[in-house]
Amino acid sequence: MRALRNILGQVQKNGMAIGHFNIADLVLLKAVFAAAQELKVPVLVGASEGERDFLGVRQTAALVRSLREEFDFPIFLNADHTHTLTKAIEAAKAGFDSIVFDASAQPFEQNVRQTKEAVEALKSINPDILVEGEIGDIGSGSEIHEKAPDLSKGLTNPLEAKQYVEATRIDILAPAVGNMHGMLRSMVQGETRKHLDIARIAQIKDATGVPLTLHGGSGTDDEDLRKAIMAGINIVHINTELRVAWRRGLEDGLIKQPDEVVPYKILPYAVKTVKEAARSRLRLFNGQLEQGIANQKWNLRASK
Ligand SMILES: [Zn+2]
Repeated sequence: MRALRNILGQVQKNGMAIGHFNIADLVLLKAVFAAAQELKVPVLVGASEGERDFLGVRQTAALVRSLREEFDFPIFLNADHTHTLTKAIEAAKAGFDSIVFDASAQPFEQNVRQTKEAVEALKSINPDILVEGEIGDIGSGSEIHEKAPDLSKGLTNPLEAKQYVEATRIDILAPAVGNMHGMLRSMVQGETRKHLDIARIAQIKDATGVPLTLHGGSGTDDEDLRKAIMAGINIVHINTELRVAWRRGLEDGLIKQPDEVVPYKILPYAVKTVKEAARSRLRLFNGQLEQGIANQKWNLRASK
């Protein structure tokens, strides 16, 4: 099976990014997979601790693996924001391809120590697993926020990033570069957009050389995302945009069929809206203006 590591290496070389979409149910997974399949681009599915609690750690892994195997398609699974080693080990043993070990709320030295310990423990379970570490403050909660938190003091310092990567031996770094989890109401309505510190991304890339993940990508300005990918971002997380689409689709399915009780007649409305949201982001991340361009860039077969 072609590993996530190879895909990431290819992305680093081509100046592209893999789309990372969180799932908490089968509607989200079906929609994300359908979008990636249609565009013929690799995709990373994520499940946070809360999402894993709901869907089941081993069940999430089994669902994603079944798609990868049946369709011979590069769909991978990430354990998003994992705060304890116990939860990280649980995900590694269930077969997750990567783990975001998040000790970013701790002071720097403690974050280094805990992350280093996690990297060693997780690689001893699966030497191929990728571990992502995080420094800086990108807020919490992929939901609708009334007010923007002040994250300006928590931006990642490039020198500290270099030190962190070298000390912990993480495979992937999640920096704070103007990104933020969740969306403001004005962003959901399309009135405002998030903006990124592109120069800082380039400096962090230069200092560390490792693949970089942009968390909290929902609601970010398209042009900023393109520039961020050119500056060295290789994975972009989208969650809130999908959650908004999920709710809209579900409401649509219920309102249009007020007497319907059959789940497989109601839920396809949500699959459709989520798929559209994922597809438009995947197009942007893979540098596609028109469908078909990525086919030349990606050797899509998951095996070998
Ligand atoms: Zn995140």
